[in-house]
Amino acid sequence: MTLSVAAERTTITTHFIDGRWTDVGGPTFPVFNPLDGEIVSESAAGGAIEAKAAVAAAAAAFPAWANLAPGARQMLFLKAADIVERRTEELVELMAVEGGASRAFSAFQIRLSAAMLRQAAGWGYLPAGDILRSDVPGRTATVTRKPLGVVAGFTPWNGAFYLAWRTFLLPMAFGNTTVIKPSELAPRSAGLVHAEILEEAGFPAGTFNVITHAPGAAAEIAEVFFESPAVRCINFTGSDKTARILGAQAGRALKRMVLELGGFNPVIILDDADLEESIRAVTFGAFLHQGQVCMNSRKVYVHSSLHDDFVSGLTARVEGLKIGDPRDPGVIIGPLIDDRAVEQIQVRVQDALDRGATLVTGGRANGRLYPPTILTHVPADAICATGADETFGPLLVIEAFDDAEAAFRASQNTPFGLSASIMTRDRARGLDLAARFDTGIIHINAPTMASEAALPVGGVKDSGWGRSGYYAIEDFTEVRLTTLSSEPGRYPF
Ligand code: ADP
Repeated sequence: MTLSVAAERTTITTHFIDGRWTDVGGPTFPVFNPLDGEIVSESAAGGAIEAKAAVAAAAAAFPAWANLAPGARQMLFLKAADIVERRTEELVELMAVEGGASRAFSAFQIRLSAAMLRQAAGWGYLPAGDILRSDVPGRTATVTRKPLGVVAGFTPWNGAFYLAWRTFLLPMAFGNTTVIKPSELAPRSAGLVHAEILEEAGFPAGTFNVITHAPGAAAEIAEVFFESPAVRCINFTGSDKTARILGAQAGRALKRMVLELGGFNPVIILDDADLEESIRAVTFGAFLHQGQVCMNSRKVYVHSSLHDDFVSGLTARVEGLKIGDPRDPGVIIGPLIDDRAVEQIQVRVQDALDRGATLVTGGRANGRLYPPTILTHVPADAICATGADETFGPLLVIEAFDDAEAAFRASQNTPFGLSASIMTRDRARGLDLAARFDTGIIHINAPTMASEAALPVGGVKDSGWGRSGYYAIEDFTEVRLTTLSSEPGRYPF
């Protein structure tokens, strides 16, 4: 529930458990606008008790939800999509004040969210399994896809609105019920607002539950998820560092996990690329949401014949991006999420400069506003260039190459494997090179973050596993084999 307390002009939010907003009055924690540190809301500070109640509600709602007729489920999803669109202006404002998202980024998320809801609405009508041939006379074998049970999700603060849908909507579309724990940095745009939407659409109580928590309390909630037998899968979007902690717990609890982690997404611009198109694609791919999305481009390898024109064209374009309060519809670059994020990029830019890199543009913070920053001539051992760790901000490294094969090999020297791009006019050459990338996604002539709701997005290696879109059926269902024998069996004893 969001309650505006007039006297203090503060929004108070509560948990959403079993179709009800919990009472106001318990402990809360403040959520800040990253731009100016103003308090945006006071959110309920939950813990193990609320997590257990939410899991119990989701478990109780599971049998009816799993067996709901496809048409009934479809109506709910379609209604939710309409509500998302109706609430566009309010959602844009929320994403701006809670997460520093520009209107361009919020509109992108709203479009993708409504599209995903409408696509998922029809999945209940798709074939539910297969009939297989058996070698045993008189036996038929059927294979059906069954939902898992309760799926618990961790939703992130960055692409908060869309990534939250992706975390719980895909499991729900396949008949699971869910509990989510939004990031403490954006509890409304990463979960509570979704509860408002699903409540209005008429989703049955308990099918979707949200619990919020103060910084530092995530671990006790995670423990409840891992220890509850009803929870059959943990769907996590966040850093590989936290994923390793959770993965160890998943190992002990023998629980399935779906992981959407970071990336170090390279772009290779071949000598025959369309220069103007490459500049446009890299501007969007590297600097959307001020570089705080796992699929942002981090390093561009550009053929030396195009390098100087590419760098000057890109610089001119990014210097034209308006920086400031994302509530201004003209602003493209809003604030970084917190001081830690500003410090990370500052330290890494300085590290590269100390090692002899050239600063082409940007490089100076104004509070939490950090301009698009381009570095060239970056030594391979600079932190921002090694590929071992993503710099979660508006920092792009550009490197010239003469030998495309060497550039390709260098681009693969990273533990991550999320997305990548190749820019070329030669489609066959692009496809040949794409086939060799060790990433979950490779785009030819498009940015590294060319997401669409229907397409399976996900990573390999340290970028995690699991896919979005209909391919998520692999992650959120089990295969059930049923056989029926209509003749007496033949047994060896
Ligand atoms: P980011 O840096 O993008 O916020 P993190 O991986 O640090 O990514 O955090 C992602 C989510 O993981 C957040 O919702 C946070 O609350 C949760 N989290 C962080 N540390 C732990 C932990 N030790 N156990 C369980 N959850 C955690």
